[in-house]
Amino acid sequence: MQITRSSIDTAKGPADWFTGDVYIDAVAAAPAPSRVTAGLVHFMPGARTHWHRHPLGQTVFVTEGIGLCQRRSGPVEVIRPGDRVLFEPDEEHWHGAAPNRLMVHLAINESDADHDVVHWLAPVTDAEYAAAPATG
Ligand code: MN
Repeated sequence: MQITRSSIDTAKGPADWFTGDVYIDAVAAAPAPSRVTAGLVHFMPGARTHWHRHPLGQTVFVTEGIGLCQRRSGPVEVIRPGDRVLFEPDEEHWHGAAPNRLMVHLAINESDADHDVVHWLAPVTDAEYAAAPATG
């Protein structure tokens, strides 16, 4: 058993990967041979990931606020607390907060044999983001 007290600094999501203000707390980072990592991600209103894909997919579970997500060529979807989203392996997508609400999700990731968890692509443009349905 290994207890990690609340002693790991919150990381600011880098501008190379995110638009807007995003904060990440490490939830799980088990040593090899485990390949699972998990993070609790706070997206401030309007903040979102860049387009990206995960070699082995990703599950996110919304815990607070109102969020948005989209897979390439699909509609922008509204996600709310209790919603779980599975992104398929190598499915291009983004996720983030609604324009007027923050969003918090737990993200569960698995690295592939090359230790890759995510491949980052272009930012989500304002026009792409603005295609979201109204969230009230
Ligand atoms: Mn993702």
